[in-house]
Amino acid sequence: DAPFLSVRDLYVRFATEDGTVKAVDGLSFDLERGETLGIVGESGSGKSVTNLAILGLHNPRNTTITGEILLDGQELTGASQRTLERLRGNKMAMIFQDSLTALSPYYTVGRQIAEPFMKHTGASRREARARAIEMLAKVGIPQPQTRVDDYPHQFSGGMRQRAMIALALVCDPALLIADEPTTALDVTVQAQVLDLLKDLQQETGTAIILITHDLGVIANTADKVVVMYAGRAVERGTTREILKEPQHPYAWGLLGSIPRLTASVDVPLAPIPGSPPSLLNPPSGCPFHTRCAFTATVGGDRCSTERPQLPDGRGSACHLTAEQKRDIFIEQIQPR
Ligand code: SF4
Ligand code: MG
Repeated sequence: DAPFLSVRDLYVRFATEDGTVKAVDGLSFDLERGETLGIVGESGSGKSVTNLAILGLHNPRNTTITGEILLDGQELTGASQRTLERLRGNKMAMIFQDSLTALSPYYTVGRQIAEPFMKHTGASRREARARAIEMLAKVGIPQPQTRVDDYPHQFSGGMRQRAMIALALVCDPALLIADEPTTALDVTVQAQVLDLLKDLQQETGTAIILITHDLGVIANTADKVVVMYAGRAVERGTTREILKEPQHPYAWGLLGSIPRLTASVDVPLAPIPGSPPSLLNPPSGCPFHTRCAFTATVGGDRCSTERPQLPDGRGSACHLTAEQKRDIFIEQIQPR
């Protein structure tokens, strides 16, 4: 069977005044129903752009997308804006970091949840209001029958984030894209919101793509992980594999905070010396070679001239041998 979501050789390019930005450079991954994929990487690694492309929310005037995005058998890269608009909010939904900009200040929370339900299901105003109340109850808003008529500013930050989840899930989307969904919340509320997402996922079988800077969030929520650098996937594996024995030098840098990984959330990625490369002129060969400490181990100029490929399944895009990766990790990287 084909995977529920299949992204194959995705390229996203923006035309700018200074030239073409290669924001996503040949990305592939699969996602099944009920599964959560974590995408990690520094800002500018292509995480958010990938998801805007899946949702069809890029600017078609300056953006070129090639490759394949198959959602439940439907091709999205060539789909019309109308088709994408129908799929958004219905088959796929999103949660962003900032619920203040996602919710309109001018309409009640209940109306904003009811509206897409009416639009996509043909429900009456009364049915949609009942559904909004049901959703607010589901995400743990107390007294949903009265709070349904509140405006967003009458909600706390945590409640707004819950309301945004209610809005995203009101039509039972099969795919949910969550871009830093808990970054703006304090740690306790973060944990609650993540638990809520997990519960709802178990109930509905929604597939989730979770973009985050936070390893605690990944450890608690994701089944599998893609590590992105300079618009490419450089490593993938199950969450356990990635956190226990990362293979790519970039992942070693990012995961510098592994020893403190516990059941709690709020474990930021470690800063890596140097800065992410320009995507106007990406480095030749391995894009990480300008910051990598292991180019001499590989030897010659291989790292700066030859692009390492990411194998299917578990693996990393790096010229080090499997044995070198293991030895370096055990001897130099692994927390003692
Ligand atoms: Fe470092 Fe070379 Fe591996 Fe790239 S291919 S991560 S530069 S060792
Ligand atoms: Mg982002």
